[in-house]
Amino acid sequence: MNKLDTALVRASLEDAGIGLTDHPSQADLVIINTCSVRDHAEQRVLSHLGHLQHIKRSRPRMVVAVIGCMAQRLGDQLLQHPAVDVVCGPAHLPDVVRLCLEALINKTRSSVTDNWQETDRLDELETSRPAAESPGHAYVRVMRGCNRACSYCIVPLVRGPERSRAPAAILDQVRILADRGVRHITLLGQTVNAYRYRLGEKTVYLADLLEMVSSISGIHWVSFLTSYPTERQFEPILQQMAKNPKVCPYLHMPAQSGSDRILAAMNRRYTACQYIDMIEKARAMVPGIAIAGDFIVGFPGETDQDFQQTLALINKVRYKNCFVFKYSPRPGTASSRMEDSVPDQVKSSRNSQLLAAQQQISSQIASSFIGKTVTVLVEGPSKKADRFGKEDGQLQLVGRTNTDWPVVFTGAKGMVGQFVQVMIQDASPFTLFGTCVS
Ligand code: SAH
Repeated sequence: MNKLDTALVRASLEDAGIGLTDHPSQADLVIINTCSVRDHAEQRVLSHLGHLQHIKRSRPRMVVAVIGCMAQRLGDQLLQHPAVDVVCGPAHLPDVVRLCLEALINKTRSSVTDNWQETDRLDELETSRPAAESPGHAYVRVMRGCNRACSYCIVPLVRGPERSRAPAAILDQVRILADRGVRHITLLGQTVNAYRYRLGEKTVYLADLLEMVSSISGIHWVSFLTSYPTERQFEPILQQMAKNPKVCPYLHMPAQSGSDRILAAMNRRYTACQYIDMIEKARAMVPGIAIAGDFIVGFPGETDQDFQQTLALINKVRYKNCFVFKYSPRPGTASSRMEDSVPDQVKSSRNSQLLAAQQQISSQIASSFIGKTVTVLVEGPSKKADRFGKEDGQLQLVGRTNTDWPVVFTGAKGMVGQFVQVMIQDASPFTLFGTCVS
């Protein structure tokens, strides 16, 4: 979601004729988009700000804006930081450029973080200047906020309550993106499977939306992030995935823990057994479906036995990949009132154990691709690619399959944003390597 917000702000900057530089020390304006989910993310922002404060000594006219959830959470408090000129919460993105220009011209300092209920203007920004992540792929937000009350999570506090966007606005946005060459749309929501929008007598759910988006000409792949493990709307979504070849067979459905005791303390409203039943149902309905997940280790009161249950869940589900986070108490959340009882080195050790177990599974899944040919939507040069390419115009490219596997291969610049067939020859746990065959 932050990637999308960054892309939207970048597009508004470009519209205003503001160019980008790779060197913060040469910039007139620095915008930092922030996340509040864990303390670590906020600490990194503070350390960037410290660095910018130093740069500002020799460039006093430089303007620094902090946007996103940390801006929303801290508001005016952030404005007291000597490096910060503009503070802007996630609902006020349409104002960012104006506020930054005012700061550049008049040296005003401002903070807008109130009233995240006001969504219409954000809708306007998304529809008028839809932004893509890469030439062929774009994120499209279908919901804002979250109505869940997971005890550890700050998202509902900083992004507000759940609001689904009107299907017409979403479809308009997708049409513009498709006309510009986007082929893969990822629908975004904190609990995307809870999407519902009343249109007269009828309610549009995520499964309907998937069908509508996939029927837009030019769109070949549709996926969605992130699903909450609940029976609500689960079957129609899977049915859509099973029967509609454009809906990617990929499900990101965080379990967070394998222990029922911890799940209850987290206020996740399912047991490990119910979660596994849902995964089994998904596998039965959509053969070959790739499952991704998130886990938190070291939640208050997590014992070694609880942790072993999480490890067992990972081994049972056989995720494609998992994101593992060390528990971080967040201000204002229910769990922040519990004692953060698991020592940091225990959290770290559990974190690496889970990652090691997952790496083994990912590695086995990755190896099973060797010798197969997969369809890849090309994103751009790989991280290691020589920017200017080789003499024959070939360069190392990276793209993704419809189950979110990154694929690295050698190809031509013109392939970016296109679908190509790649024969897989090698695999690391999280990346496939191959040769382009068409
Ligand atoms: N609503 C989305 C995004 C939540 S943030 C979702 O449910 O996926 C993404 C992940 O960060 C969560 O799934 C969780 O694993 C992790 N997370 C959230 N709050 C956390 C906290 N206080 N400490 C550590 N990890 C956290």
